[in-house]
Amino acid sequence: MKKEPLLFIVSAPSGAGKTSLCREVVTHVPGLHFSISYTTRPPRQNEINGVDYQFISPGNFRRMIEEGQLVEWAEIYGNFYGTSKTSVEEYRSKGTDIVFDIDPVGARSITEEYSDSVTIFVLPPSYGELKERLIQRGTDDESVIKKRLDRAREEIEQSNWYQYRIVNDDFKSAVKQLKDIIASERLKRKRKIVSQ
Ligand code: 5GP
Repeated sequence: MKKEPLLFIVSAPSGAGKTSLCREVVTHVPGLHFSISYTTRPPRQNEINGVDYQFISPGNFRRMIEEGQLVEWAEIYGNFYGTSKTSVEEYRSKGTDIVFDIDPVGARSITEEYSDSVTIFVLPPSYGELKERLIQRGTDDESVIKKRLDRAREEIEQSNWYQYRIVNDDFKSAVKQLKDIIASERLKRKRKIVSQ
């Protein structure tokens, strides 16, 4: 039995807990690769190059765009973020499913390029909770937090086209929901192609 690899695209407003959620699921679900994005944003404390992101200069990012190395990219809060085409193709050719932690602009581009995409939007329990989480994270100053909250409002308003929604009010339950979505998508009959 052969299967087409699936692309799980997870988007959420900054601070909704999406990154921890994706990481946790990738650690525990076999056959899943987490797509490591390229970014021009400086690393936060505890972030490791090659694990959290590939941290590169704006010049190198521009070169990747010009050389067509990115399957999608977006400018977010003045920094650039993008996904390597080679990396996606490499895992797809091995039949490995991929999880992407990317914004709605990138999510749209990936779904247009790959029909086997599954889109999931993670919501915070409330705006108040989201603000609290951004403050607690302690990585951004007040003006950046305000920008992130404004963008969150916009992203949530425009999230209706995503196939799934997960409200991250309880981390364990959100992890279970994401795992269930992955398991169910993998079981879909159309995904299973019987080899001749
Ligand atoms: P952060 O700076 O908080 O790590 O991420 C900011 C935003 O960039 C998040 O919404 C995250 O999902 C998005 N992001 C991360 N990597 C990529 C990427 O490769 N492409 C796009 N389009 N967005 C990304």
